[in-house]
Amino acid sequence: MTRESTDILISGGGPAGLTAAAAFGSAGFSVICVDPAPPVTEADAEGADLRTTAFLHPSRAVLQAAGLWDRLEPQAAALQVMRIVDAGGPTAEPRIVKDFDAADISDEPFGWNFPNWLLRREMVARLADLPTVSFRPGLAATGLFTRQTEARVTLSDGSTVAARMVIAADGRASTIRQALGIGVRTLRYGQKALAFAVTHPVPHQNVSTEIHRSGGPFTLVPLPDRDGQPASAVVWMETGPEVARLAALPVPEFEAAMNARSCQILGSLKLATRRSVWPIISQIADRMSGERTALMAEAAHVVPPIGAQGLNMSLADLAVLLDLAEADRGALGEAKMLDTYHRRRHLEVQARVAGIDLLNRASMMGGQTFRNLRAGALDAMYSVAPVRRTLMRAGLGVR
Ligand SMILES: Cc1cc2nc3c(=O)[nH]c(=O)nc-3n(C[C@H](O)[C@H](O)[C@H](O)COP(=O)(O)OP(=O)(O)OC[C@H]3O[C@@H](n4cnc5c(N)ncnc54)[C@H](O)[C@@H]3O)c2cc1C
Repeated sequence: MTRESTDILISGGGPAGLTAAAAFGSAGFSVICVDPAPPVTEADAEGADLRTTAFLHPSRAVLQAAGLWDRLEPQAAALQVMRIVDAGGPTAEPRIVKDFDAADISDEPFGWNFPNWLLRREMVARLADLPTVSFRPGLAATGLFTRQTEARVTLSDGSTVAARMVIAADGRASTIRQALGIGVRTLRYGQKALAFAVTHPVPHQNVSTEIHRSGGPFTLVPLPDRDGQPASAVVWMETGPEVARLAALPVPEFEAAMNARSCQILGSLKLATRRSVWPIISQIADRMSGERTALMAEAAHVVPPIGAQGLNMSLADLAVLLDLAEADRGALGEAKMLDTYHRRRHLEVQARVAGIDLLNRASMMGGQTFRNLRAGALDAMYSVAPVRRTLMRAGLGVR
């Protein structure tokens, strides 16, 4: 069987793995990226990822380094204001509305929102332009053998690739992480998310709205107009059985349920896509690196979709890895580089996973007393301007 060599082998061609391939390929490293599932790059195709990703401000530099930003920018919906609505009173109506405006801390928006299927389309197109990158959909990493000088990855066609560094971007059940024997700590909430897009009569005005009642947040994130109508992506978190019930409802009943839950904040919402269901967990790997291997993205950390943190944390992993690799190209994949990567990311990732876990538990609260406490805490934190600005910076991952 064939045996190849490369600087970097990336296991996983999800949004994180594809961005890593584009970034390292743009920096002149030779890259092979494998994924058993060919990327779905059209909204209406079977298996399309209908979630959206809000890239927060710090992620833009990584996308620029990867040569992706110029392709993406014209298709972005900017996020200028993050609106938090508490509708946790006895009846489902907004009782506290707080706007976190990016203008308080910067001249630019908090971030930019894109459908995931579109991200994959643009990422795959970028890789095709890079002679340094070989993207191989249809192939899985099945085994890993490492020694001090290199890693060898076995692929599902029986071939082997020798790499100076392996990047595990192969998702929450990462084959590479398991091959290294790195454990994870997983928190389960009995919760799932429904993701879909809606159109609405009231323009979103670049405001992302998170509505809290119980079961988890109902979040509307701005999208570019759809067929001439204002549109938003929705992530609706609820208990597993409730999500199963909602996902199975006929469209008119589902629309009635989501309009009750959204408190008609953007007028009457109309379902514009299929509904997709995502399990919600928090998970963190015990280490971010092993011999000749770096873990990134969901292979290293999974968080509930609150505050658009997941993929943004992944691009922060990538920024550190790229920085270390470019600082000393000869040391790519060596123990010192990978230990530094682990140290620079793991504490920050632990803090972020713990913070989002707390926010998610607060949002799930069912009892009226707890919901009142939650509303009071939001009110108190918001009313102190320095606290508000610190929270906004912390959410973005900037100081
Ligand atoms: C409802 C929802 C909304 C979200 N919204 C946001 C948001 O607004 N902003 C944000 O930053 N994040 C958001 N996230 C999180 C974000 O979607 C994830 O962080 C991101 O999709 C995970 O990307 P990934 O590349 O790490 O993993 P995945 O997308 O799971 O990709 C892993 C890839 O690895 C491949 N793979 C698996 N096994 C192997 C193997 N053995 N060999 C090779 N390849 C393999 C898989 O086929 C897959 O393509 C959201 C998450 C959810 C659930």
